Amino acid sequence: MNARLDLILTELRLPSIKRLALDLCEQSDREGWPGSRLLEALFEHEMNERDVRRIERRRAESALIPDKRLSSFDFAAVPSVSKAQVMALATGHEWLDRGASVLLFGPPGVGKSHLISGLGHALIDAGRRVLFMRCSELVQRLQTARRDLRLASELAKLDRFDLLVLDDLSYVRRDQAETSVLFELIAERYERKSIAITANTPFSEWGEVFVDAAMTVAAVDRLVHHSTILEMNVESYRRRTAQAEQAPTKRARAATTTTTTTAAN
Ligand code: ADP
Ligand code: MG
Repeated sequence: MNARLDLILTELRLPSIKRLALDLCEQSDREGWPGSRLLEALFEHEMNERDVRRIERRRAESALIPDKRLSSFDFAAVPSVSKAQVMALATGHEWLDRGASVLLFGPPGVGKSHLISGLGHALIDAGRRVLFMRCSELVQRLQTARRDLRLASELAKLDRFDLLVLDDLSYVRRDQAETSVLFELIAERYERKSIAITANTPFSEWGEVFVDAAMTVAAVDRLVHHSTILEMNVESYRRRTAQAEQAPTKRARAATTTTTTTAAN
């Protein structure tokens, strides 16, 4: 390729065309393509690869757990969660335009973070923007912002994300300082931008997280208004797989125990 064209393609930021131009121009000359066909082929490649690059950029900024995808989630292990319902959230993502929320409840180790990461990855594949954060970290970040009188701009920054995942709400404690920033975030995004929350305590114990009862009710009210609630009250998947690895022959008995536990809950 001639040096000037090379320079122009760099300047215009068309890396895919730059990479393919020589080959495609040669092919075009050889096969006598009309000019429009050559142009179309070049730009089509640029467009497709641009999409791929954008998705990878968004995956990197999302901080989602990299290898936790829906494809590796064993739905059979959590009978209370409907695979069809989760897949519907992953493919028909217009709920993000309504600012609807997803709430995942269950004890530690049942796959809450895995499931919501998997959903996040699927939404990124569909062209959406997602941010995954530990809830306590986000609270800290917002509290610092408030101290520095830039809470509004910090909240505005989070606005670029269609879905904000707050992992482990239950680990936020009131003694971490006052957490009304979390309420402000919830109120700010209400009916505009989606939030997903994982928690190992039910709503009745969220009073531990918010400043007072009235604020807890107000926060829960907004979150529940347009929401999908996934209850995952099973035995820890981590513990189950550890048991299965230790004693493969006892797997059948472990399965029976699990069934009993689920029924008891
Ligand atoms: P939680 O967030 O509920 O504490 P995690 O999502 O961290 O649980 O799950 C704990 C571990 O078990 C992770 O390695 C996760 O990938 C795995 N895991 C949990 N549930 C499932 C499942 N249903 N299918 C596949 N892996 C699972
Ligand atoms: Mg988790």
